[in-house]
Amino acid sequence: MTLIAQNLAHIQDRIRGACERSGRDSQQVRLIAVSKKKPLTDIETAAAAGQTRFGESYVQELVEKIGAAAQPLEWHFIGGLQSNKVKYLRGLPTLIHSVDRLSLAREISRQWQKIDQRANILLQFNLGGESSKSGAAAADALKLAQQVSQLPNLIVCGLMTLPPYFDDPEKVRPYFRQLRELADQLRGQNLANVQLTELSMGMSQDFEVAIEEGATLVRVGSAIFGARD
Ligand SMILES: *Cc1c(COP(=O)(O)O)cnc(C)c1O
Repeated sequence: MTLIAQNLAHIQDRIRGACERSGRDSQQVRLIAVSKKKPLTDIETAAAAGQTRFGESYVQELVEKIGAAAQPLEWHFIGGLQSNKVKYLRGLPTLIHSVDRLSLAREISRQWQKIDQRANILLQFNLGGESSKSGAAAADALKLAQQVSQLPNLIVCGLMTLPPYFDDPEKVRPYFRQLRELADQLRGQNLANVQLTELSMGMSQDFEVAIEEGATLVRVGSAIFGARD
């Protein structure tokens, strides 16, 4: 068994454990293997071990990897996104996790309109208010969701957050809980094209806590593929 396959099996065990502790069905939690800055060979090793969902943070890297991958895989775009690069992503990712402003949502809708499809997106929130991170402010959530819901070629599948880093994952719990509560509030608005079934939260360091707080998509990189340079 390769190290990547061992890591994946161990993480799946920990996902099941977190689901059991919190009374959740482990089918509700999907693992996204974050492969940014890792070679395609690592992705193919993970795919051979049964991993089907991969997360990438850079447009060019994602486009190249999709073009070169030997088998069809499910790709998630999780990084900061400039509007002028959206055209290169058109039709490619299953889900874009990082939509944090109306102008970006508009451009995604416009590009997906050209292929007569709807893009699946998540709204990203910066709950720690850190200037180094992208994400909308929680205070702007309702307005942003209302505006995005008017766009014809988008479906808002849920919310995403990248909380502040702490050595102790328990310290991150309040941010995960806040994202879940934000989703509950927005769901109560019954906005068109806003489904809010997905919560993308939790990384190598804290995915178990995120699952206990309701994550449906966990984005795990270094615990699968090792540290990035
Ligand atoms: C890199 C990255 C991850 C994975 O982080 P690890 O700590 O390596 O698990 C998750 N989410 C986003 C948005 C990232 O950029």
